[in-house]
Amino acid sequence: TSMKVAFIGLGNMGAPMAENLIKAGFEVTVYDLVESAMQTLEQAGARRASSASEAARGVEVVISMLPAGAHVRSLYLGGDAPGLLDALDGKPLLIDASTIAPDDARTVAEAAAARGLSYLDAPVSGGVGGARAGTLTFIVGGSAEAYVQARPLLEAMGKNIFHAGASGAGQVAKLCNNMLLGILMSGTAEALALGVGNGLDPAVLSEIMKQSSGGNWALNVYNPWPGVMEQTPASNGYQGGFLVDLMGKDLGLATTLALESRAAIPMGAQARNLYALHASQGNGRLDFSSIQRFYRAGDSD
Ligand code: NAD
Repeated sequence: TSMKVAFIGLGNMGAPMAENLIKAGFEVTVYDLVESAMQTLEQAGARRASSASEAARGVEVVISMLPAGAHVRSLYLGGDAPGLLDALDGKPLLIDASTIAPDDARTVAEAAAARGLSYLDAPVSGGVGGARAGTLTFIVGGSAEAYVQARPLLEAMGKNIFHAGASGAGQVAKLCNNMLLGILMSGTAEALALGVGNGLDPAVLSEIMKQSSGGNWALNVYNPWPGVMEQTPASNGYQGGFLVDLMGKDLGLATTLALESRAAIPMGAQARNLYALHASQGNGRLDFSSIQRFYRAGDSD
């Protein structure tokens, strides 16, 4: 018999992740607050539930993919309604793949441990494209035993799976990565605008920097200048991809983490403010490479 899994949260990321579990042969029961999200998954072969605790009945693993820490806390710990931790009939492994504050992940992990349950923070990198293709990177925090138990499931949704350390470590590593990404994207856009403003062709400048010491992921595979690379959000009006609002959320979480641990993040703070200004100008729903427009208004396509 195949393993029974509950999947809570069927948004842009959760829906394709749950579909990949079904394709890999897991028996998946889904729950989302949004009715239409569940219908799509039902057509893909999932069973649907009328609440998170109903979805989790009798399963071996619960996976959640929710917007933010408040949603994850209220799902597991409860708020207006009782939390999942107190509604479970068995002892399933709990895996949260949302990006949330490390402290929130540790709070849920401790509450789970107090009930004899294992909880892993397992935020992902790779975006909606990676979720669809099943090539996500999972960055896991929690016990080694739970990590080993989770691997077959994570392998059905991802390609690179890392054990970062104890509870919360997955979230810390994810925030470090996305802070660096925000810095690199801003810096890449800044350098391109400087060169183009001084007469260079953006494609020629990009190629030169790629082959020189300025090469980085934002420049090499996600060029923010429209038309330099095909198939990038920049070449498609900055539609799709990784939203400015989500980058802003992750940079905010990194800022809080730095404040709490008294770490200096001058570059990260700069990136957070750039993205906050960019979002406040109505760009929150554009791809994060649209920070290019911040440096050079008018280069819309
Ligand atoms: P989303 O907003 O598209 O989806 C979230 C889903 O959760 C929605 O369908 C919503 O209805 C559902 N939901 C909210 N509260 C719920 C509850 N109590 N019970 C059941 N369902 C509930 O978000 P997303 O883009 O799928 O992102 C999910 C998480 O993954 C976020 O933490 C995000 O930061 C992270 N992430 C996103 C990307 C990306 O490119 N979109 C990449 C990496 C990580």
